[in-house]
Amino acid sequence: MDELIYYGQKMVEEGLSFATGGNLSRRLDGETYKITPSGQAYASLKDQDLVTMNLEGKILQGEKPSTEYHFHQGIYRAYPEAKAVVHTHSEYINILSILDKPLACIHYLMAEAGPDPIEVAPYASFGTEDLARNALGAFGRNKAVILSHHGLVTFGSSVKEAFSQARTLEFCAKIYIKALSIGNPSSLSIEEMEKMVDRFKSYGK
Ligand SMILES: [Zn+2]
Repeated sequence: MDELIYYGQKMVEEGLSFATGGNLSRRLDGETYKITPSGQAYASLKDQDLVTMNLEGKILQGEKPSTEYHFHQGIYRAYPEAKAVVHTHSEYINILSILDKPLACIHYLMAEAGPDPIEVAPYASFGTEDLARNALGAFGRNKAVILSHHGLVTFGSSVKEAFSQARTLEFCAKIYIKALSIGNPSSLSIEEMEKMVDRFKSYGK
């Protein structure tokens, strides 16, 4: 089974998306990537349902790519180090997204995604080039961005890493929102977050 399908199923099982929501892709080389198809349940996906595309939006193999291929393609073009992209519609991230409230750096684990608060990219309709442009404009130094009234996008050096970020950020959004309901959570300093990003780079290597 392709790891896009494995992690797609995991995404639904772990409640990070539901039904056919969200999508995943992985880079094949400098010019091409493989992406999950549009509107198909992850549970019944087969390797041959995945779509291979180039960075100009041309379909090389398969039929109907995810409607969000624009931001996948945009990320691969803008970040040569991006080897995979994961997009989820998770619950607590979406609570922040409808408040247009960035996820503050309230836990060291957020260093998986970068040193700065996770920004909310301005709203644009799903599947549009405008949405891709807005998302790309909001990553900053991070590898994750919240899409207003929509969800989360992460990229990483592997599908596993991009998926892990989506899971970690959903956990952090949950504790942030719960903390906000009873008080004023404090943030870690940017200096501390930068240190954690460096620590994560060498962690496990
Ligand atoms: Zn979406």
